[in-house]
Order: sequence, then C-alpha cells, then structure tokens
Amino acid sequence: MNHPTKSDNSFTPANNIAMEATKNQQAAKTQVGDIMAPEFLVDEPPPKPNYPHYRVRPGEPIVLADIDPDTAEHYKKKKNIEKELEKQRDRLTDLQRRLYAENKRSLLIVLQAMDTGGKDGTIKNVFQGVNPQGCRVWSFKKPSDEEASHDFLWRYHQRTPQRGMINIFNRSHYEDVLVVRVKQLVPEEVWRERYQTINQFEQMLTLNNITVIKFFLHISKDEQKQRLESRLENPNKRWKFSSNDIKERLLWDDYQTAFEDAINNCSTAYAPWYVVPANKKWYRDLVIARAIADTLEAMNPQYPAVEQGLENITIPD
Ligand code: ATP
Ligand code: MG
Repeated sequence: MNHPTKSDNSFTPANNIAMEATKNQQAAKTQVGDIMAPEFLVDEPPPKPNYPHYRVRPGEPIVLADIDPDTAEHYKKKKNIEKELEKQRDRLTDLQRRLYAENKRSLLIVLQAMDTGGKDGTIKNVFQGVNPQGCRVWSFKKPSDEEASHDFLWRYHQRTPQRGMINIFNRSHYEDVLVVRVKQLVPEEVWRERYQTINQFEQMLTLNNITVIKFFLHISKDEQKQRLESRLENPNKRWKFSSNDIKERLLWDDYQTAFEDAINNCSTAYAPWYVVPANKKWYRDLVIARAIADTLEAMNPQYPAVEQGLENITIPD
C-alpha cells in the first residue's frame, strides 16, 4: 500500500483529515467477521491527526511500565500550555456545534483510569466550552441487581450517544474486563471472551455512525499515593476519599496487567485506545482535548443545508 509522505505534494493536513474521516468506518467494515486488525492496517502509519504518538496501534502491543506517565513533550509547566489548551477547547466548541447541527453522527468517549487517575478533572477541564445540551456524561458504578441480571453490555448500550451527541463514559464496559477480572467476579473463561465481544460491540457502534475513542489516563503508583494523601489532608477533597481506594491500591499490579490486556486486545483500527501520560494534569487535559478535536475534525461534521430563498425573506414587524 502506498502511503503519503512529506515529499508527496498531495499530502496536506487538509486532505489527510479528509482521508481520516471515513477511515474508522471503513476499518470497521473491513473487519466484519475479523475483529483483529487485518495486515494492511497494521502496516499503515498512524494517521497524522489524532496524536499518533499516544494512539495504540493494532498489532503493536504496549507495555504500560515502558510508558512514562510524567512526560509532557517540551512543555515545562501549566502556564506553557494554557493558550494551546484554550485553542483546543475552541476547536471542540466549534466542532461540537457542527456535530449537533448535522444530527447524523455521534461520538462516544471512554475514560478509564486507576483511582485518582483524573477522569473527573478531565471532564471538567476539557469540556468547559461545550454546550451541555449536546453532551452527556455517564458514570458507571457496581451494577445494580437489574443491570447484573442482563448481559454485561446492556447497561452501556443504553447510554451510547444519540445522533448529534457527544457522550462520555466515566468508567465503561471495560470495567467488565478490569475490576471484574482483578476481583475474580466471574471465571476467566467468561471475562476473556469479552475482549472479542467488546470489539464487536464497538464495531457495531462504528457502523452505526458512532465514532468511539478511548483514553487510559496513565498515572504512576507514586502519583496515586500523593493524590490519595492530598484527599486525606485537604478538607475540600476528603469527601472523595474512600477506604476502598486503599484496598484497590494493593492490587495495583493486577490492575496494570488487566489494563494492558484490555488496551492491547481492544485497540482496533476503528475504535482506538490512547494511553495518555497523566501525572501532569494540565498535559493530560491538553492531549485529550487535542485528540478529541482531531477526531471530530476528521469526522468533518457539516451544518445542514439551509432552506432555499432565505435571502428574500424579511421578518415582519
Ligand atoms: P471517584 O473519582 O469519585 O472516586 P469513581 O469512578 O472511582 O469516582 P466510585 O464510586 O469510587 O467512583 O467507584 C465506582 C466503583 O464501581 C469502582 O470501584 C468500580 O470498580 C466499580 N465498578 C464499575 N463498574 C463495575 C462493574 N461492571 N462490576 C463491578 N464493579 C464495577
Ligand atoms: Mg473512586
């Protein structure tokens, strides 16, 4: 397969974005009945927008321990990224407005992390400028009796976005291969099958005009310790502390393995995982805002056609 290169005149950010626009759906179509990435996708360079550096490519498994949660490109402190973050938020505001007006497609954003990983902070900081009417956040806790009496995807499917909407999953169907695996809530043969089921579910969503992107907010064990300590020390944060977080922390390594397997098995060409260095909250926000704005830009939502003859209309007094 020929790939555009920098020396190729046809390669510009604009046409690359156009290429990207249909790519996820084409990838989903190609993979019907073959949920792992076919070879041509594995060979392909990561798409230019979408912050390829943090995108996990099918067939190239990551090792979490090798990814530095402290990294922040060339940025040294929060002040250095403020303008850039503002720019990304403005892009998001504009693109979300178009997605909503177009009313044909939607975006599902999955946020997963270890405790204190920053899911709540990300939602608050990245989505500040987005019209609440076009955006919904769903948080998933331990399933209720009713939820638990259905198939594991049932409760998530009901919360996938309607046309025109951006939905954010604060925890998600991935809990069913994370906490469920680590706490041995079901036998291995049950959770292991779920990677494939999840890939098929996300493929089905993609084919139904729902773009799916997934972020793992990657923090270090030391950083979690500091964040838990600050929850204990700071009266305004104490309500966030749960002694269950200590129990979960003791299972840190098991969770890292479970995350690694979930990401490696389920980062598909149509529904990618991003591993986001998240020790520095401001950098995490920037990476996620950029990746979402890039994804929306690649979708290229359009305002619907206006009525004919508007130029001749005068509004009566
Ligand atoms: P916060 O940042 O406020 O602590 P949180 O997402 O950690 O937010 P909690 O109420 O502390 O919210 O935790 C939710 C709990 O629900 C987690 O311990 C998680 O493992 C558990 N949970 C989520 N989904 C499932 C599931 N499918 N099966 C079992 N437990 C689940
Ligand atoms: Mg919690």
